[in-house]
Amino acid sequence: MPAKDYEKVIWLEIHVRIKSNTKMFCNCKNAVALADEPNINVCPICMWFPGMLPVVNKEVVRLGLIWGMMMGCVVNKVSRFDRKTYFYPDNPISYQITQMYEPIVWVWSVKTLVNGEIREFSIHHMHLENDAGKLVHAGWKTLCDYNRAGSPLMEIVTNPVFSDKEEVMEFLKELQKMMRASWVSDADMEKWQLRCDVNLSIMPVGSKVFGTRVELKNINSFSSIGRAIDAEFSRQVRLLDEGKQVDQETRGWDDDKGQSHTMRSKEDAMDYRYFPEPDLLPIVLEEDFIEECRKTLPELPIQKRLRYLNEFKLGEDDARILSADHTLGTYFDKVVAITNDPKKSCAYLTTVVLWLMKDALVDDITTIKITPEELSEVIKMVNADELSSTNAKIVVEELFKSGWSARNIAESKNLIQKNDMWALESIVDTIINSNPTQVQDYKGWNEKIFGFLVGQCMKASSGAWNPKIFNEILKKKLG
Ligand SMILES: [Zn+2]
Repeated sequence: MPAKDYEKVIWLEIHVRIKSNTKMFCNCKNAVALADEPNINVCPICMWFPGMLPVVNKEVVRLGLIWGMMMGCVVNKVSRFDRKTYFYPDNPISYQITQMYEPIVWVWSVKTLVNGEIREFSIHHMHLENDAGKLVHAGWKTLCDYNRAGSPLMEIVTNPVFSDKEEVMEFLKELQKMMRASWVSDADMEKWQLRCDVNLSIMPVGSKVFGTRVELKNINSFSSIGRAIDAEFSRQVRLLDEGKQVDQETRGWDDDKGQSHTMRSKEDAMDYRYFPEPDLLPIVLEEDFIEECRKTLPELPIQKRLRYLNEFKLGEDDARILSADHTLGTYFDKVVAITNDPKKSCAYLTTVVLWLMKDALVDDITTIKITPEELSEVIKMVNADELSSTNAKIVVEELFKSGWSARNIAESKNLIQKNDMWALESIVDTIINSNPTQVQDYKGWNEKIFGFLVGQCMKASSGAWNPKIFNEILKKKLG
């Protein structure tokens, strides 16, 4: 059968490193961005020395709960930890503490825009667990770094709801934005703060029976997820076309070669012998704690994007850019709250400020010298005809460099358009009196001469005054 006669069924298992200050069961620093020196953030608990007892970090529970609630999930008021038994050199304890049977939150969904349409993808559950250490292979030696051991993770397991790579990639990008907006994680794939395993099976179009699933591991960017899905789909179609079967297995993805390889077959599947963790009590969430967390929930990135589109009437691209980064969105909202002019605020932010940031290689808007208040002042001055758009750009550039006040910059550089009516009228009178021939011509319906008179007024004012107002006064005086 040709490839178009098959459809894909995809689901994801996503691991996210939670941005808490300390690790999951001890007071060691949780070096989210990975510490440079190996084995400095360790203690007897996260090295699991005999007799050590873990204690659940309340901050991790709070962050996990906030993230779950952002998606309107069902909070499990009593969740438990289980032991997942396995040995690997990066895991000093020979088991992982996870939540197999009673995860902290159940069933909810994530909404995102795919090709301009709102789509909803359902999630099976999210549970908390601890991370393992890291192995560093150096020549014939393998070194163990346990800085990461015992760091908190969220594992998010989706239902089989994706039918193609675009949906998967948009979903993951939305997830990343949500994590960042709620300060739960930076979810940077390159830093392994967000890792995603992709399960993929194929079946004839219209079938209800899923094909054999293959799990793809070690994918560390959004674009390589897309490439891995395409390659695995083609591989499975080819196997079925050749009359072979797809084996249930775990495959590693090599992005440089653009192909996957077998890591573990079904026969090698481990028996993890899950059982309730005897060293930890269940997590019991009280109403007050849940309410406290609920109060800190941020606006969802998708809600922000729709608000920019529908209420602020911004274009698709602007709404996407401003809602993609929550710090940028917050900055923009502050400017609009002062100027009450979303379109102009968006224009100055996206076409002037973001370009200045790009030029200066700055990504974080919270670190720039222009405050939302000063950018608003520039926009207000433009709207009051005090600054031309060219001069406004000069003021913003200067603000970006010095962080001084917009009005002081405009005044010190003599950029303010003067609109003093009395002074303006006296200039117009002088020009009318000193150009009697041209005035007569204009009154004889020579429209072109009007532009000349406005030009004379501008010249007399050294260009510091607003031509729009000269226009109005001349029209009024010449009738
Ligand atoms: Zn520790």
